[in-house]
Amino acid sequence: MIKSYVRDIITGLGSLLTGMKVTIKVMFTKGNTVEWPRQTAQLPEKFRGHIMLVPNESTGFAKCIACGSCVRACPSNCITVKGAKPEGAKKKSPTLFALDFTKCSLCGLCVESCPVDAITFSRDYALVDYSSKPFSAMNLLDDVASPFSGGSE
Ligand code: SF4
Ligand code: SF4
Repeated sequence: MIKSYVRDIITGLGSLLTGMKVTIKVMFTKGNTVEWPRQTAQLPEKFRGHIMLVPNESTGFAKCIACGSCVRACPSNCITVKGAKPEGAKKKSPTLFALDFTKCSLCGLCVESCPVDAITFSRDYALVDYSSKPFSAMNLLDDVASPFSGGSE
């Protein structure tokens, strides 16, 4: 009886020391996590966030000509684009560029299909909300200047 009691204690201490060995080893290892939002993550070069519109360097307006190529290329029907010609312009500009990010698979077909390199992947990795609603109709025109007042229809 006493023998098995002592044996249990020794076995328990052995397990405890094994566990502590792992804990102590990890304590001195550099972690892979960051204390967001105080720290920001180091993203790999090819990281894909949601798509975003690329601005024209000189005007700041979206380079997008509202051709609809990305809309047709998207296999998940995530993109809605409407456009019009600003007064005096030869090409259209988007009046609406909405993304349903909840359906996006980040496949990149929209980026590849754009004839004027007007979309790219953002490096935004911290999209947070209590529901998916804000991400089901993201207005990508919010982040670029627009020749139309208000930037949307
Ligand atoms: S990355 Fe793919 S799924 Fe996402 S919007 Fe572009 S084409 Fe659609
Ligand atoms: S393919 Fe490019 S230019 Fe055409 S609507 Fe999409 S983002 Fe705009």
